[in-house]
Amino acid sequence: AAQRDALAATAEENMRLLRESRRAAEALREADLRKDEFLATLAHELRNPLAPIRNGLQILRLSPDGPMAGNVRDMMDRQMTHLVRLIDDLLDVSRVSQGKIDLKRDRMTAQAAIQAAVETSRPLIDQLEHHFTLDLPEAPVWINGDLTRLAQVIANLLNNAAKYTPEGGRIVLSLSEDDGQAVIRVSDTGLGIDEDMLPKVFDLFTQLDRNLHRAQGGLGIGLALAQKLVHMHGGTIVARSGGLNQGSVFELRLPLSEAATHDRDTDAPVE
Ligand code: ADP
Repeated sequence: AAQRDALAATAEENMRLLRESRRAAEALREADLRKDEFLATLAHELRNPLAPIRNGLQILRLSPDGPMAGNVRDMMDRQMTHLVRLIDDLLDVSRVSQGKIDLKRDRMTAQAAIQAAVETSRPLIDQLEHHFTLDLPEAPVWINGDLTRLAQVIANLLNNAAKYTPEGGRIVLSLSEDDGQAVIRVSDTGLGIDEDMLPKVFDLFTQLDRNLHRAQGGLGIGLALAQKLVHMHGGTIVARSGGLNQGSVFELRLPLSEAATHDRDTDAPVE
């Protein structure tokens, strides 16, 4: 009987191992599929801006001083900027995952990062005719951060709000203080995000499959990068949505700079 029990236990253990390796193989297949999809998207996204740039060159070659020349140059400039941004994001992702990004942290105001981000994202917001509201407190909100990186994170949230909201939507960016933290919220009236997809939007290469999304391009790396940069700042980032077509809210929390809490009265930086 003991032998039979031992045999049964071994058989059960074998079944468990088999199930486990099946699951692992399935996960690998999925990761592989995501990688294949990503490569296809990448090729597509890198190629897209090249066609108008090539057409532009053709036009400029035929009539370098024609009436269209100025517009054509502007268009080429925009396409190149887009291309450079995609490639910079790609480089950033690989640097972050290898731990090769160093933050240059300084005492700064959250307002400064927000203003820089708005400057970056304004053209897209305007182009899509969204109504944009900026809700900033008058008193500076002091944090310890890398201005360029935080501006990049916030600009990414703003660009997403613009991209994933049908034209003429409403986008609100607000800043407040809560519980020793600076709270930056970007909300939109757009496509929203299904509840089960909410945590996944921060995964690398995740792109929800909806037509409007593709219209503005992207690689599915912006939010993954944003989350990593925010964590490097000791902060958090979460997504909320009422569901499909109910808009989204992205909330970014960063620790307030220590000295700031002692110096509320004068609003001046403490050295
Ligand atoms: P990308 O925008 O390049 O696809 P991101 O990492 O910035 O990549 O975003 C990942 C995915 O999360 C997007 O493809 C989109 O499906 C979804 N998403 C992000 N922001 C929003 C938003 N404001 N509203 C609806 N969906 C969003």
